[in-house]
Amino acid sequence: MSHVFPRHTKANPPVAVAGDGCYVIDSNGKRYFDGSGGAAVSCLGHSDPDVIAAIKSQVDQIAFAHTGFFTSEPAEELAELLISNAPEGLARVYFVSGGSEAMEAALKLARQYFLEVGETKRHRVIARRQSYHGNTLGALATGGNAWRREPFAPMMIETSHISPCYEYRDRRSSETAFEYGQRVANELEAEIQRLGPENVMAFVAEPVVGATSGAVPPVEGYFKRIREICDAHGILLILDEVMCGMGRTGTLFACEQDGVTADILAVAKGLGAGYQPIGAMLCSAKIYDAIENGSGFFQHGHTYIGHPTACAASLAVLQKLTGGLADQVMPLGNLFDAALRNAFGQHPNVGDIRGRGLFRGIEIVEDRDTKAPFDPKQGIHKALKKATFEAGLACYPMGGTIDGVKGDHILLAPPFIMTEAQIGEVIDKLKLALREVF
Ligand code: PMP
Repeated sequence: MSHVFPRHTKANPPVAVAGDGCYVIDSNGKRYFDGSGGAAVSCLGHSDPDVIAAIKSQVDQIAFAHTGFFTSEPAEELAELLISNAPEGLARVYFVSGGSEAMEAALKLARQYFLEVGETKRHRVIARRQSYHGNTLGALATGGNAWRREPFAPMMIETSHISPCYEYRDRRSSETAFEYGQRVANELEAEIQRLGPENVMAFVAEPVVGATSGAVPPVEGYFKRIREICDAHGILLILDEVMCGMGRTGTLFACEQDGVTADILAVAKGLGAGYQPIGAMLCSAKIYDAIENGSGFFQHGHTYIGHPTACAASLAVLQKLTGGLADQVMPLGNLFDAALRNAFGQHPNVGDIRGRGLFRGIEIVEDRDTKAPFDPKQGIHKALKKATFEAGLACYPMGGTIDGVKGDHILLAPPFIMTEAQIGEVIDKLKLALREVF
């Protein structure tokens, strides 16, 4: 009997024993193409020799040193490389062990910033419905996913949720994409007025929405309007790039494509590419300086912040990404998108194919014309997960009811080292699975 506390107590998952490029191999020798990089994690595949060598070399020198006493060479070098490639204004990096920790640190840093500058009433967070920002209590409260939140609601900080920017589902036929984006962005202004701007600390959003809706990019102008509203009221913009960052959408940071920058930005997943658990929170000089000129101490911390081995792995990853690999994501993503459209664009149960770079979503519907979703009781996403997995494709079908909105989608986030031939393999496996389910 296993003593591991599994994700699903009734599941009996295969045992992963080896990695080979884009493939995970189980104990029976079956090979799975990692079509979602776990959850948009394994951007370099599973056997990158340079990252493995960097980890070995760091462990040989020193595996861990506590940041209460020391900094480390890999942490310093990684922070420098991240900041030199980050959107304008981001100046400092705080390393943590994953995405939820990065978001948690972001919320606490935002609050402490306002205390340092004497705007002590500011504590309210506004985020969006159908969003996910992590599973620790602060990050969970920020996310707009009723099902995830409900059991823990009495333990949560109060957060407001406005509409997401989800063109396929929510744009009215009477408005252009741009008008739609402005309308939903303006909900932020209305919510700030309702709460009183002096009480609002931050707006939180994922530039390209990952797990909750399946690689949904914003419409043009949406984030510029959001930025404008935040600036008009002195509110911090926290961008969650835990899933969509680190080259996934074709630029190192997803927000670059929307022409905005964040006050605080969270990354994780692709930052360590799965070789080590690591996340990071990047913040502006304005925020860092307020702490430095004030208390001089960010009242937060975990044992493993700035973990040298995790930073060494991540440095090797980032050197590859900035050394040319991230530049290949956009063209490869365009090929992938074209192949998906060619294969499934006319499928009666495919409502939408979308995304950026190697971050692609397929929305599954019962009726293409009306966009009617399947009844969640049918468990379409579960059937898709089973069928794709049996076909040897690990991808990320999600669905059911999220924040009252029904729907199913498949999230694809393959490794950046995927070849054109492997695009064909993914398409063939998806075809098999869709044929099996429908
Ligand atoms: N934010 C987003 C957008 C995510 O997709 C996730 C993980 N799926 C998180 C935060 C939380 O990250 P982690 O699971 O590493 O805590």
